[in-house]
Amino acid sequence: MRLVLVGPPGAGKGTQAEILSNKLGVPHISTGDLFRAHISQQTDLGKEVQEYLDAGELVPDEVTNEMVRARLAQGDAVNGFLLDGFPRNTAQAGVLSRMLAADGHALDAVLEFRIDEDVVVERLLARGRTDDKEDVIRHRQQVYRTETAPLLDYYADIVVTIDAVGDVEEISERALRALRALK
Ligand code: AMP
Repeated sequence: MRLVLVGPPGAGKGTQAEILSNKLGVPHISTGDLFRAHISQQTDLGKEVQEYLDAGELVPDEVTNEMVRARLAQGDAVNGFLLDGFPRNTAQAGVLSRMLAADGHALDAVLEFRIDEDVVVERLLARGRTDDKEDVIRHRQQVYRTETAPLLDYYADIVVTIDAVGDVEEISERALRALRALK
């Protein structure tokens, strides 16, 4: 299964992605995690992207797209994947479709985690990651609204929306049920 997760920062996508990745037997590919790994290993890419992550800005598309292209070319992603945090805008979505189409593939679904902004801001403040300061959090929510939420129209034909408020287990059950209903 080739799946994209979409939802505001703090919606619990990362946690759900881990669970769904195990249940569905496809790798969890998080662009945020990939960037953070580069930053902690102080690679050239890490140095290039650090300021964007610190400010809650999107990393430029060329950099992000090439990192994703390389990751999707790895053997474990050939038969499916769960993308978490990519695409983040419609330009990235276009690039992704073309990458997949080049191998005769396409996305099966886009899973939307729907949750109120105030709830996610509270959660993120509690999480305490380095980019979890209130002004940066608010900015990331705004970037989500303006840049990322339009993906829900872009992918309208394949979007499946679930309510992302509740227990971790309850939400993963909702997600699996919604995905099973697609078949
Ligand atoms: P996340 O872990 O998904 O919340 O992402 C953390 C940060 O990584 C974001 O605030 C961006 O700075 C950067 N990032 C992650 N994914 C992307 C993407 N697809 N395009 C651009 N920047 C990204």
